[in-house]
Order: sequence, then structure tokens, then C-alpha cells
Amino acid sequence: MSSENHNRLPRLHVDRENISRGEICGLSEGQHHYLRNVMRLKPGDRVRAFNGRNGEWLAEVTEISKKNTIISFAEKIREQSASPDVWALASPVKKEAFDMMVEKSAELGASHFFPVLCDHTVVPRVNRERLQAISTEAAEQCERLDVMEVSALLDIESLFETWSSGRKLIFCVERSEAPPIAQALQKLPRRSPLAVLVGPEGGFSENEIRRIKDQPFAVPVSLGPRILKAETALIAALACVQQFSE
Ligand code: SAH
Repeated sequence: MSSENHNRLPRLHVDRENISRGEICGLSEGQHHYLRNVMRLKPGDRVRAFNGRNGEWLAEVTEISKKNTIISFAEKIREQSASPDVWALASPVKKEAFDMMVEKSAELGASHFFPVLCDHTVVPRVNRERLQAISTEAAEQCERLDVMEVSALLDIESLFETWSSGRKLIFCVERSEAPPIAQALQKLPRRSPLAVLVGPEGGFSENEIRRIKDQPFAVPVSLGPRILKAETALIAALACVQQFSE
């Protein structure tokens, strides 16, 4: 592998099973537009590419026409590595805030994002495809080698039905006697599978809080004395989790 510094080269996720030396690959319309019209790349210029399985590759632009861009994989520059086994679970909130929750969860290393329907969820729908695209762009930008998977909207009970007992659920709940998140995380084995759950703008219902706390894998935590917006709560919780999971 080359020790040259490639940090400034555009970085692209390519949707393909395998990457190997010498193979060529057409880019998506968005990537083509970005490389041609924003970065103004020319044939012979280089980019970085990854598919979530075969590490990161140096690639060369072999064709950049009006309509499309083709690259050719040249050399592997990073071996594949997995993100920590951390899930982000959050009630949908208004669009901009929820987009941000997806983007920041990807940056903070979550492996999966589950939009969950709660009693007080105001916007009971999500555009999974759009959110997945946000996750992919965040992966390109933050240099992770895999892409956080965004699931369709689920209700929390259906997730609980198949929950594996080894995965603790870090349950963020305000105005409670729950211990501070760092204290709770310290008691768990490092790098163990985790999930982080935050509620909607209106918080969880009393009934939900009881149901969730009853789960043997639930670990209620506090994020401090202030009442945070849902997006702030998720980012703050994942930032803490990141310290214990990598
Ligand atoms: N409207 C509610 C607050 C909801 S905050 C109220 O005024 O009571 C949205 C979500 O962020 C909550 O469901 C919880 O999961 C999380 N959250 C916000 N502040 C928190 C805190 N200090 N500790 C733990 N979780 C918090």
C-alpha cells in the first residue's frame, strides 16, 4: 500500500459487489456532476473509492464526458474495517432535524439507523431512500469504510421481538433518576453491541417509558439536567458511546 497522502482526493462510495485492480466503474449522476462541474476533474485525475467491503482504493478518471464519468481502480490504500456495532434508534422529528440526526449518526460511527414510531411521534413517515443517500454522503465525507444502513420506519415493539439479549439499549430519558450516560457506559464491557434510543419532540409517553424500562436489556441514562432537543440528545449520546466503543 502506498504511503503517499491521498487525503485531499474526492472520496466516492461505489455501489458494486467487488473492487479489484484494473476494473472500471461508471459513477452515479450525482458523482459525475460533482467531479465534472464542481471539482472540474479531467481524465488522468485521481479519486478515492470504496464499496463498504473491499477497503479504500485509489482510482483514476479514465473518461469524463458531458454525460458520464468512468474511473479505473488502481491500488488499495486502506484495508476494510468495520464500524462499531452501535445502532441509533430515534423517533422521526421534523425533516431538517431528522436529516441531521441521520448524518451525524453516520459521522459518529453508528452501524444502523432505525426510525422508530413512538406514541408522541408527530411525523409518522420517513423517506428511507433519501435518508440512505444522506448516510452514504456522510460516509464519503467522514472517511468511514462502510455505510450506515437506514431502516424503514418501525414500531419499537417489533424491534424488541427480535432483540438479542447481548445488545444493551441506552435509553435516553430526561427528568428521571437515571445515572449519567458515561457512568452507565463504564459498567458495560468495552465494544459490546449497543443501541441508543431518543424520543420525539414531545418525549416518550409514561406508558412507553414503563414498557422500555421493563426490557431486561434497557439501560436508562441521563444526558444532564437540561432538556435537550431530540437531535441534540442523539448526537450527545452517540458522542459518549463513541468513547467506549472504538
Ligand atoms: N418535550 C419533552 C422533552 C423531549 S426531548 C419534555 O419537555 O419533557 C426529546 C428526547 O431527547 C427525549 O425523549 C429523550 O430521549 C432525549 N433527551 C432530551 N433531554 C435529555 C436529557 N437531559 N437526558 C436524557 N435524555 C434526554
